[in-house]
Amino acid sequence: MNPCKALLPTVVAALLAPAISQAAPPAQDATPLTTGSVRLDIASGRVEGDVCVSNLPNASKGSFVLNAGLNVARVTDGDGKPVGFDGWYDPGVDGEARIYTLAEPAAMLCVQYVGAFPLYPKHDAPTDFKGLMAFNGDSARFTEQSAWLPQAFDPKARVRSSESRYDLQVDCSGCRFLYLNASPAIEGAQGRFRSDNARPILLFGGSGPITRTAQVTILNESLPPAKVEALSSTVQKIADVHSRYMGVPLVDRPTFLRMVTLNQIERDREGSEWGFATWPTIAMSGSVGNVADSLLADGDNAERRVQYIAHEMGHYYFGTLNRPQGPYFWVLLESSAEFLSIKALREISGDAAADRYIARLQSAIDTQEKPLPAFDAIDGSSDLGEMYRYVYAPLLLLSLEKQVGEAKMQAFMRGLLAAPSPRSWAELQTIALKAGIDTKAWEHWRASCVAGGKAKQ
Ligand SMILES: [Zn+2]
Repeated sequence: MNPCKALLPTVVAALLAPAISQAAPPAQDATPLTTGSVRLDIASGRVEGDVCVSNLPNASKGSFVLNAGLNVARVTDGDGKPVGFDGWYDPGVDGEARIYTLAEPAAMLCVQYVGAFPLYPKHDAPTDFKGLMAFNGDSARFTEQSAWLPQAFDPKARVRSSESRYDLQVDCSGCRFLYLNASPAIEGAQGRFRSDNARPILLFGGSGPITRTAQVTILNESLPPAKVEALSSTVQKIADVHSRYMGVPLVDRPTFLRMVTLNQIERDREGSEWGFATWPTIAMSGSVGNVADSLLADGDNAERRVQYIAHEMGHYYFGTLNRPQGPYFWVLLESSAEFLSIKALREISGDAAADRYIARLQSAIDTQEKPLPAFDAIDGSSDLGEMYRYVYAPLLLLSLEKQVGEAKMQAFMRGLLAAPSPRSWAELQTIALKAGIDTKAWEHWRASCVAGGKAKQ
């Protein structure tokens, strides 16, 4: 039997760690802090900000980005002193945002800005995507990608500081409720939101209903109790499995957000759905009720939803407590969440469900002709696409587990959570050795499964 095929034998013991240990969350670098106030108006699409960002990364003290539909009125330092900046004419662009360059680096950056966005109350816009500041007539949706708040920008690496702690006052004319990612939603048109953890900052203001249970928040859609219960109990099970496996309690609970997209008419006509997750928010264009329906129906659809929710909840560990950086960024962020989701799927939906899921990944990789970047040779310039993040690297992790056993693999995953992101293969190996994986086993895995980036095993 090929040692790199990731399918585990069907006898998989219950998760090995008996209890949640008091493992300390990983040390975090100082993260940016975003403070100030934002006003918006659902009826006019107008947005005004008076926002400061402090504790900026060194490489990002001289530039920031802001959505291209917003106009900068002035930039000041923390003491109110004006700071000169470029970007009025022939500005640099980063996706949906303009790049502004300060005359001199500032430790604290305060930006006053204003803009107005088109309204699509008929949901007949030519497009919609995560980077738009979206007004659909009865709600506003600004994700972190839209750069609705100034974000420090590293012009060399072209990287935005898109996650930040926050203390923000939001006033929304026309909103019945307000939600900032990772804070409790509030009923009302204004509120102050704080987070001591760095988060991608997403804002949603709307007029729909809110349902809260101990396990989930459902925004902008009301569901019958049986569906709420289906979501709640699934989330509870996943939280239990992940917490036990990682040895650190999963504190966040997801918010399911129903959004009516700017181009909802076209989506309805095509029957297409669109969603994204900005943990702990899971946003979807269809109905959150569809997820609950699938969970209640059992079978393949239920398994896919369990795996999906488990993947997103895995981002509490890889993405929130541990914020990956460096050459293994995508593997540490996405493949580890994927690995955890397969663990949860096995626990919750059974061995057959997990094996089916793994077999699907395996068949996707079997049809890949081109070799992928070898995991032991990737560096910052390696192009790790979706196939790599969601299919190939999760299978590699499973093949490692098959070779070293579940207990050591669990220790390795906990080691990845607790350690700063490895910057090299040697640093990755150090984490493996600490987890009790011996050099011989590690080298055997490297030689038999990793080297050469063989897509076909
Ligand atoms: Zn993910």
